[in-house]
Amino acid sequence: MKSYVLSIDQGTTSSRAILFDKNAKIHAVSQKELKLYYPKNGWVEQDAKDIWNDTKYVCHEILKENNLTADDIDSIGITNQRETIILWDKQTGEPLYNAIVWQDRRTADYCAELKEQGLEDKIINKTGLLLDPYFSGTKLKWLLDNLEGARDRADRGELLAGTVDCYLVWKMTGNHKTDITNASRTMLYNIVEQCWDNELLDILDIPLSLMPEVNDNIHLFGNTEFLGKDLPITGIAGDQQSALIGQACFEKGMVKSTYGTGCFILMNIGEEFKKSKNKMLTTIAYRINGKINYAIEGSIFNAGTAIQWLRDGLNIIDDAKDSEDAINSVKDNGGVYFVPAFTGLGAPYWNPEARGMIYGITRDSNKNHVIRAALEAQAYQTKDLISAMADDAGYDITEIKVDGGMVANNFLCQFLSDITDVKIKRPEILETTAMGSAYLAGLYTGFYKSMDDIIAGSNNNSEIFEPSINNDDRDMLYSGWQDAMNRVIL
Ligand code: ADP
Repeated sequence: MKSYVLSIDQGTTSSRAILFDKNAKIHAVSQKELKLYYPKNGWVEQDAKDIWNDTKYVCHEILKENNLTADDIDSIGITNQRETIILWDKQTGEPLYNAIVWQDRRTADYCAELKEQGLEDKIINKTGLLLDPYFSGTKLKWLLDNLEGARDRADRGELLAGTVDCYLVWKMTGNHKTDITNASRTMLYNIVEQCWDNELLDILDIPLSLMPEVNDNIHLFGNTEFLGKDLPITGIAGDQQSALIGQACFEKGMVKSTYGTGCFILMNIGEEFKKSKNKMLTTIAYRINGKINYAIEGSIFNAGTAIQWLRDGLNIIDDAKDSEDAINSVKDNGGVYFVPAFTGLGAPYWNPEARGMIYGITRDSNKNHVIRAALEAQAYQTKDLISAMADDAGYDITEIKVDGGMVANNFLCQFLSDITDVKIKRPEILETTAMGSAYLAGLYTGFYKSMDDIIAGSNNNSEIFEPSINNDDRDMLYSGWQDAMNRVIL
């Protein structure tokens, strides 16, 4: 009996396999940590062979541990860390070099050169992205320029390139395919015309023959026998887009926000491409049955890292979940604000030189005020982003669907609602990223019946947090944040 969809969630710090049943409930999870390498300042790499071997391992493990076989699996969905790029040999499948991870900044100088040549507007107009080393394009150029013989071999058609989903599909099926959300993060894909952009490929000197076929999110990417029997891979989306789908944000104006190590907010803006006026990214939310939806995306580099720092840097909490008790022991922030700009500020500030600050300390302040300020900061940062998004989209945001490890914290959910003055919806299952790709895969095969069923399911057992403070208090708290921010971005 085909009782489960197998979702592969290949993330930056771990590879996971998750089984979802017919009611989209989690049956089992198998996980393996993935190592990151930092060979030079600003360089971040992973062994592409580990990415594939770990993925294989967790998929085999989940079946073994739950006494299942491939016969119990309906289909496979994939979601993955985005922008990370791999170059491999078409014949042998051997990667030519480590995967260059999205966080890697080695192409910062090259991006600055392209900016000086006045190319940023062109890139924004075609890809919706800013000219930044974050995206795959300049990383791929680095590989071709720096690996001996790579460019000649690429020109002879001996090599293939792809993001992590693409590499996994190739390993599992031999097909060189990706989905449109992952393609939209390469800085080489024209999200308006929906094709690889020849002009951008020329500028970066990347042969089109390296690039995979781009498909809808629901598509037969191929069949794989790696679990012992032919199974179809029928759904793929990059991690943030997959969470948007897992949260059933299928309508214009719907927003999801994920609070993990960093925070990623995506708003569905419907079928028309819109350029941001506020240095947000425009990206493809999904394309299903040929119908495209775009999203505006903003990210906060440091969210959960602030809590980790309270634990590991200041040693004022033993565990992240202790933060909630600490906060509840003080009646307010006591005027303390914590700007967690450990690694600079992302949208809408884009200030890589900014650094963190705890401001407003008086003789009455104690560690619990600092802990509270670290949590409050997530809400202020969210308000900064959604205000910019609402301005870009031209309409107000009325609800945010949240997920990620931090939203286990009730104080955070309530304070988010208080500061943004928006309803916060927390789903019963917080694994929305894996769930999105499971939905995609299961919709192809009929395991899940319709998008309407998914929307209905997403509303079951969600918790709602409503604004509970008045406008004056909200304005006062937020102006304190803006005051602190102004001191950080001097
Ligand atoms: P990622 O997927 O980025 O690794 P997760 O979604 O697993 O992150 O979330 C982990 C983050 O959430 C950590 O930074 C941790 O400090 C924070 N976190 C976990 N539980 C809580 C909590 N109860 N309150 C506040 N922060 C929390």
